[in-house]
Amino acid sequence: MTRNAALTLACVIAAAMSGCAAQPLETAASSSRCSPARPFAAGGERATLWVRQSAEFRAASEIIYRAAALALAENLADRALSAEPAQQSGHEGLPPAVVMDIDDTVLDNSAPQARMILEATCPPEFEAVWDAWVAERAAPAVPGAVEFIRAAREMKDALGRPVRVVFITNRECSKRAGDAAACPQKEDTLANLRALGLDAPTLAEDLMLKGERREWVSEKEARRLAVARGYRIVLNVGDDFGDFLPGVRRQSPAERERARCAHRDWWGTRWFMIPNPMYGSWQVVLGPDLEAALALPPAAEDCPGS
Ligand SMILES: [Mg+2]
Repeated sequence: MTRNAALTLACVIAAAMSGCAAQPLETAASSSRCSPARPFAAGGERATLWVRQSAEFRAASEIIYRAAALALAENLADRALSAEPAQQSGHEGLPPAVVMDIDDTVLDNSAPQARMILEATCPPEFEAVWDAWVAERAAPAVPGAVEFIRAAREMKDALGRPVRVVFITNRECSKRAGDAAACPQKEDTLANLRALGLDAPTLAEDLMLKGERREWVSEKEARRLAVARGYRIVLNVGDDFGDFLPGVRRQSPAERERARCAHRDWWGTRWFMIPNPMYGSWQVVLGPDLEAALALPPAAEDCPGS
């Protein structure tokens, strides 16, 4: 597999969601329509099928969300606990909040992945395909997500204050032809969440998009800290390491592994990761040469003290 496949898989949806610019492709396996660039495909088929068709993915996702609900109940009782590393003091008296990513954490975007594979979508078209998908407002839920959000909104802390669920997404605000709204993607996403049957509607202030404010960039820490100014963050759910820690989108696999180990006790207690084999920063940091990456030994190593 080549630079083209790597960049395609890593950037295709991420390009629109997290500023990972789609790159021109350059392999010999080019289609005449995309020529000289290669269409979206190469290697994404198995990952996309696993998410769309396997009982294994559904079981894994439901397991994680059920465990997250159990952990949330425990975390609410511990007023000193925070799931945000930068929230180290002064949060004990704040009301509780859960932070969640949207794409492939709550909303399942395997459909546009499959579409782009089947239609051999060319890189310059990725952004438009993604925005059209957002505008459809038709993403199904990631298994277990709706049940978790409902349960979280029913829970209260020791003082009887309800949990606020805040969605921090790298869906990016951008103008759309024929639409006067500055950020049509926000209303699209709220409508998509409403369509999933969440009993309580998600409020506009509970959804934070990339670019909605100047400081709300791909790196999500500024938005987490904005939440942390008024709330104790008691749990975080995402599908990308970057949903939890700053800087990891630029780290080597070995550096990311050290960061994972440094927060080992948080995984499964404060932080919950939904598997996403389709795209993500995990692949971006491998670089463009996937053949070379495949030849490397596993990045995983035993965490110190394990
Ligand atoms: Mg995501």
